[in-house]
Amino acid sequence: MAKLDPGEYDIQELGPAIKDVEDVVELKAILDAEREGQNRPAAVALIESRVEKYEEDEEADADDLDLAEMSAADVGNALQNVDDVEVLERLLEEEEGGEDRDSVKRLVQRRIDSVAGSEEDEEGEEAVARTPEEKHPDLDHPTADKKHVRALEGGVYRDMWVYCETQAGELIDVSREMLGKARELMDDYNETYLADESDAEDERVVAVLIGDGASEHAEECVALGADVVVHYEDERLTRFQHKPYAEIFCDMARGAGHPHGREDRPEEEWRDYDEPRYVLFPATNNGRDLSAQVQAELDSGLASDCSGLYIENTVISNPVKTGVAGEKKEFEAVLHMKRPDFSGFEYSTILCLDNPNREFHPQGASVIPGSFEVPEPDPEREGVIVAHDLSLDEGWLRVQVTDHDRLEEGIDLSGYEVIVAVGRGIGDDPTRGIELAVDLADAFEDAEVGVSRGIVTGSYDFDGHVEQYTREERQIGETGQVVAPKLYVAAGISGAVQHKVGMDESETILAINTDPNARIREFSDYFIEGDLFEVLPRLTRAVETGELDAAAVADGGGGGD
Ligand SMILES: Cc1cc2nc3c(=O)[nH]c(=O)nc-3n(C[C@H](O)[C@H](O)[C@H](O)COP(=O)(O)OP(=O)(O)OC[C@H]3O[C@@H](n4cnc5c(N)ncnc54)[C@H](O)[C@@H]3O)c2cc1C
Repeated sequence: MAKLDPGEYDIQELGPAIKDVEDVVELKAILDAEREGQNRPAAVALIESRVEKYEEDEEADADDLDLAEMSAADVGNALQNVDDVEVLERLLEEEEGGEDRDSVKRLVQRRIDSVAGSEEDEEGEEAVARTPEEKHPDLDHPTADKKHVRALEGGVYRDMWVYCETQAGELIDVSREMLGKARELMDDYNETYLADESDAEDERVVAVLIGDGASEHAEECVALGADVVVHYEDERLTRFQHKPYAEIFCDMARGAGHPHGREDRPEEEWRDYDEPRYVLFPATNNGRDLSAQVQAELDSGLASDCSGLYIENTVISNPVKTGVAGEKKEFEAVLHMKRPDFSGFEYSTILCLDNPNREFHPQGASVIPGSFEVPEPDPEREGVIVAHDLSLDEGWLRVQVTDHDRLEEGIDLSGYEVIVAVGRGIGDDPTRGIELAVDLADAFEDAEVGVSRGIVTGSYDFDGHVEQYTREERQIGETGQVVAPKLYVAAGISGAVQHKVGMDESETILAINTDPNARIREFSDYFIEGDLFEVLPRLTRAVETGELDAAAVADGGGGGD
């Protein structure tokens, strides 16, 4: 008869009650008791699954294992049931004296390490880390030979680095904005984390300049908040190139003695750490390109397109990060990286935290231009300016720009009395939608056509005659132009926050949308619930016949009905 009577437990309680019963005879007795008693299908299935599991375990009795007969994957599976170090050592010897396969020896050795380690552990201590290959030896693992996992162990991380992008030789504004923000963050960091440590040196803002003539901007970077400027100049780097810029940045980031850095890397007086603690890039085309590669090379993470940053301690209970289920762990000085998601209707805060057996540094973000103020430069500030020493590998310069053209100046939408903007609502007939917007703009005396980013990034097939109205230069919003006309007509635009910030200073906003709950309604003065393909022509007629005029709408009238 079974020691445990399943009839005394309801289904939810039964699982926990039998979870420690591993004896197949006892489990079968429990199964019989259930069948003879209430015979609940869910309870029977639960007990049967445990019987099956432990029967299999018994079948895989380690003493019967003959590795020579087994593939590496089978060995990996079978070893999961062997917890006896002596048996494992015997298996390892047999393999060495027989087939002598490296993969099998590695699996057995790892199992020995894992079992020996867990024997030393106190109950409830952290689980031993296992590679995906160990955890799932039955799968085909292209990661087994992965070479790019280059995280440090016990690395030393300091400072906040800022990649200060230049374009056509000029420092761009987002670089200035990031320096200002970095200064603010690191001042707070030093105050919060280092003020009580009398011998601790403040952590710094490090500006990185790369490109021909880049060092010209070093003084300005210091005036804007950098403590150190590291620059690399080469006349072949007149414009951004993915490979050399990424190689140079990573070489700068890795300190002397870095296990994955170049061997002849000299000690540098200005630093004594392995990698930056934090790093910021601009979320420009080039900055996005560079940031992804650099953070991958440094084997860390990247929160892209951020518009808010702060540093704080955080308490996390995710076992991937704590190493122990059900426990909480406090991480210090975490860079909190806020970014818009779901068309800007929601903000996510991204954290880049170490795992128990894996370090993730630098914590990195790319920053949307315009997210922070350009700081007031302080010409009295002093900083260290360092030229980075590295010879460019010819192989990095395989891409050569033989010719280039400068785009014409884009259109400036800021001075018009009326803007007629269209969004993805034109999707049913994109060319017609733009034509209708142009018609309405033409009907006013002083109006132009703008678009949401949904149009710029959408893959609409526009006819040639309207294509010019759909380009990025006409985009309104956070990453486009900011306008404040007397009248802003938003047709088929949902009202994402990134669009809103480019137009909500308009005197009067008139929205046309089929969705009565569209977000744009919340900040519109007039909301027409309807199909833009019907409403825009009627508005055009009303303007043409004088029933509607922009000034009157802005004054709260409309001119007509
Ligand atoms: C970092 C970042 C920066 C960004 N910068 C900008 C920016 O500068 N500017 C910008 O605009 N966006 C920007 N975005 C994108 C933004 O989040 C939205 O995705 C975008 O604004 C949505 O465009 P939309 O309103 O045209 O499309 P949708 O959100 O798809 O809305 C379409 C609207 O049309 C309505 N509709 C459908 N059919 C009709 C019809 N026949 N008649 C009338 N209404 C109809 C729908 O109800 C809906 O409300 C940015 C996003 C990120 C992440």
